[in-house]
Amino acid sequence: MTTPVYQNFINGHFLKNQSGETFAVKNPATDEVIYHVEVADAFVQNAAIESAKQGFATWSAMTPIERSRILLKAVELLRARNDELAKIEVLDTGKPWQEAECVDVQTGADVIEYFAGLAPAQVGQQQMVGEDFYYTRKEPLGICAGIGAWNYPLQIACWKSGPALAAGNALIFKPSEETPLGAIKLAEIFFEAGVPAGVFNVVQGAAEVGQWLTQSDDIEKVSFTGEVGTGKKVVASAAGSLKDVTMELGGKSPLLVFDDADISQAVSAAMLGNFYTQGEICTNCTRIYVHKNVYKQFIDELKTRTEQNIIAGDPMNPEVNLGALISKNHHELVMGYIDKGISEGATLLTGGEALKPDSAPNGYFVAPTVFTDCTDDMTIVKEEIFGPVMSVLVFDDEDDAIRRANDTHLGLAAGVFTKDIKRAHRVIHQLQAGICWINSYGNSPAEMPVGGYKQSGIGRENGIETLDHYTQTKSIYVGMTDIESPF
Ligand code: NAD
Repeated sequence: MTTPVYQNFINGHFLKNQSGETFAVKNPATDEVIYHVEVADAFVQNAAIESAKQGFATWSAMTPIERSRILLKAVELLRARNDELAKIEVLDTGKPWQEAECVDVQTGADVIEYFAGLAPAQVGQQQMVGEDFYYTRKEPLGICAGIGAWNYPLQIACWKSGPALAAGNALIFKPSEETPLGAIKLAEIFFEAGVPAGVFNVVQGAAEVGQWLTQSDDIEKVSFTGEVGTGKKVVASAAGSLKDVTMELGGKSPLLVFDDADISQAVSAAMLGNFYTQGEICTNCTRIYVHKNVYKQFIDELKTRTEQNIIAGDPMNPEVNLGALISKNHHELVMGYIDKGISEGATLLTGGEALKPDSAPNGYFVAPTVFTDCTDDMTIVKEEIFGPVMSVLVFDDEDDAIRRANDTHLGLAAGVFTKDIKRAHRVIHQLQAGICWINSYGNSPAEMPVGGYKQSGIGRENGIETLDHYTQTKSIYVGMTDIESPF
């Protein structure tokens, strides 16, 4: 059976490359190739830049309210095609349909809608300086680049294009080579909604295509989502042309559960923050610090619910709530971490093995895994695993728990469960993380800025401030009086 071959989406249409080079994309739940994609060669790359220049000229000349109207039309199309797009995400990523159907497209559309609404409200300043005055204009940057990870492919493309386009920029987006189709569909939707050709181009490929984007002198900013190590390479490369950067990177986030917490709620948060999207979420609370007085109660309920309530299998089955990991390589990596957890002396409370569900026997499944009796020096407690592997640790002193939670070079997210309102805020204010939850975990609405402290990131996505990150301020001094000159 022949599989489709997708080309790069440039200037409002598909563009064939000249090298003929393609790569294969597999469904992680079946291990079968589902389609091929053409790599963006030099010919496609040049076309992407040239059309983005044209697109930017047209788009940036439109009023914010005109751009807003077009983006809102795209939002309408995204929502109308929810199921078609959600299915693409399930087949590309291996995540459960029951998640993609209500989260991936919706949260992407929400962000575009949010920035479409904000764009016409963005204003400059003016101030008198004596009889003269100055005013400022918020101008778009020009051509921006977005580079995406594979866990929320369409959502990431929406989170980057929403503010970039609302502010009047053109965006060249490179999705992960593991999950390239969602971004193409978004490009078609933008174009259908009336976004001018060249304003949103999609280039395909792996690291080399990403590197080209980070090096290009024609690109003013790169917004990257991916691993810390790749992020460092992107920043170093972007420095060559002094590009602005936004970095959304990895985490090893702590959740602190105090002895007055609602334990069932805390268990729900821990399970969501480790097993949703089979653990492939950057903000996951993979280090759970539980107060010694409730430790036994917490792990007993966690074990029961993990063993009874999780259904792995064909991700398109709406009953399934644990999907397949993204690739064979990643599966091996996650299983390697589980072996390390065992060899370094953690207690395996549940899980720990690869799964072969009857409905998807060739998929890259890992059982939801909980390690208890963990210590801070274990590899599974220190490194991001990006799979369904939770580490539980005990604490008995608030200050000590905060110190241990902060003892990492990462700082993406953090959470606290307690009924003591003062303690909740006192603790969360001391945790070194950019995205925090109190008696909750994981929600990330369009209105709320998100991003990391320390090596988990630079800059923010979502929230009002992000629109500013896609503009530059032009100051204009207006002379109302004669110039005083010594010459
Ligand atoms: P990755 O770093 O391997 O790849 C991310 C993207 O970078 C891909 O598109 C890849 O092709 C590209 N790339 C690879 N090398 C490059 C280079 N040298 N120059 C430019 N681009 C290059 O990450 P991944 O495995 O796709 O995603 C998983 C990681 O993403 C995890 O660490 C996770 O925590 C992180 N993540 C973070 C957030 C966030 O918002 N903070 C969200 C999702 C995922």
